[in-house]
Amino acid sequence: MFIQVLLRAPHLKSAKKYILARSKALVSQRSSHQASVIGAEKCSNPPSRGLVLGVYADEHDKDDLGMLTPTAAKYNETYTNGALLDMLRIAGPMPKRGETRVFFNLEPTYSAVAICGLGTECLGYDPSEKLDLSKEAIRIAAATGCQELQKLETNRIYVEDFGHAESAAEGSHMGMWINQEMKNPDQRVYIPQLQLYYEPELPCDSNGWRIGLAKAEAQNLARQLQEAPANHMTPTTFAQNVVQILCNSGVNVEVKVRSWAECQGMSSFLTVAKGSCEPPIFLELSYYGTNLKERPIVLIGQGNTYDSGGICAKKLHALRDMRGDMTGAACVVATCRAIAALKLPVNIRALIPLCEHMIGCNAMKPGDVVEVKNGKSIEIVDADYEGPLVLVDALLYAESFGPKYIVNVSTISDHVLEAFGKVCSAVFTNSEDLWQRIKNAGVHTGDRVWRLPLWDYFTYQMCSVEHVDVQNFGKGQGGESCKAAALLREFLPCGQWMHIDAYNVMTTKGEDYPYLRRGMAGRPTRTLIEFIAQACCHNKNSKYL
Ligand code: MG
Repeated sequence: MFIQVLLRAPHLKSAKKYILARSKALVSQRSSHQASVIGAEKCSNPPSRGLVLGVYADEHDKDDLGMLTPTAAKYNETYTNGALLDMLRIAGPMPKRGETRVFFNLEPTYSAVAICGLGTECLGYDPSEKLDLSKEAIRIAAATGCQELQKLETNRIYVEDFGHAESAAEGSHMGMWINQEMKNPDQRVYIPQLQLYYEPELPCDSNGWRIGLAKAEAQNLARQLQEAPANHMTPTTFAQNVVQILCNSGVNVEVKVRSWAECQGMSSFLTVAKGSCEPPIFLELSYYGTNLKERPIVLIGQGNTYDSGGICAKKLHALRDMRGDMTGAACVVATCRAIAALKLPVNIRALIPLCEHMIGCNAMKPGDVVEVKNGKSIEIVDADYEGPLVLVDALLYAESFGPKYIVNVSTISDHVLEAFGKVCSAVFTNSEDLWQRIKNAGVHTGDRVWRLPLWDYFTYQMCSVEHVDVQNFGKGQGGESCKAAALLREFLPCGQWMHIDAYNVMTTKGEDYPYLRRGMAGRPTRTLIEFIAQACCHNKNSKYL
């Protein structure tokens, strides 16, 4: 307790001097997010319960005394008699966004309390950034606070809602996730249990927390699938995993094998697959959340469980992440699970072509020509541009479901990395409505998208040769992602369609988004979920219920 600590410091005449001295002594665990461990006395045993609270402050004013969130203020007054805020102010400038300070033994229930910076109150939507800064600040605060308490091996962490429970749940649950499936269980980092902290007298959005949890768990699932080494995650084992993951989820899974794909005339997909000994699989997921007569949204996820580049082999630095060339498949599976968990009133049909792109004796060669089901011929100019070839047959197959619209998620071109870095996924669409909706979804989730052109200029570059209808790598310099989208449009059944190229956001270094640790990112799963949720929940009262 605060008072007990003061009694242990008879040589100091004032509490303020003592706290200042202790603060200086205990500012020892300065993390990458500049968290500070400050407090009356550090625990000798790992704290069993930790609490994550927030503080608003002007980041440009070092003298700003800070204002605790309503939940933190209530905790401060009720349980610490104001000591929490006193110590926070004495310790120095208020924590900025991404910074955390940890206090120990303020009261008996929570042995460690992390105070996280949120910036100024009501940051809100920034139109130039196309981002809701408040929600992003909450995700970062919740993640960094939990990560600091996790380092202390806290068993259970309680997180306040910071004014938006959905973002708090997202940040905390994504921030806790670590890729350690392949590590010896004895060596794994302990993952604390997370719970929403609330004061009974204050409003509590437990439904928002539930929604954020479903989205974060979906993104974590996508990360888990992406991270699995390619020798463990073949098309067959991916399908087995999906059957297990979606068991009793409300999503039906159909696993279709090579002979089925041959009967469907999926020559393009099978051409890519034949370079590997691993048999291709075509997964079909279905979810019925509303009237069976309502047309489904068709989601297509590119599922190359490994992409060597084929006979046009990639270099080593590019190969390292190519287990993630099934990002589209992982995002679509995770999205379906979240949609079912949230019981969204929508029908979904997900199509996931799974194969390895390898250099076997039957591998496709530059100059090969494939004829697909709609009669068009595709010439393989560059064997490393297999992504569109995998998606073409799924696009043609999608027509049989009479879709409301089609969304495919892929990792086709590294050129989007040059254009955007890791800030947003590239979107191509023939629908202004779909674009506005996915853009708004990205503002809400912080996982943004940006539209690239789907112009005839690129179609001409792909289709202007005499000997075939389309080439998989057109003429002209640059614009490869745009050209791939133009190719896909050639095989699109009528209707609204959106193509997402997420190559650049496949991985993260863990610096740009503090709630995602280094590794596979699972993006843009939450944006895809939000995009679908906003479309089917017009009635505010029925949203996500
Ligand atoms: Mg690829």
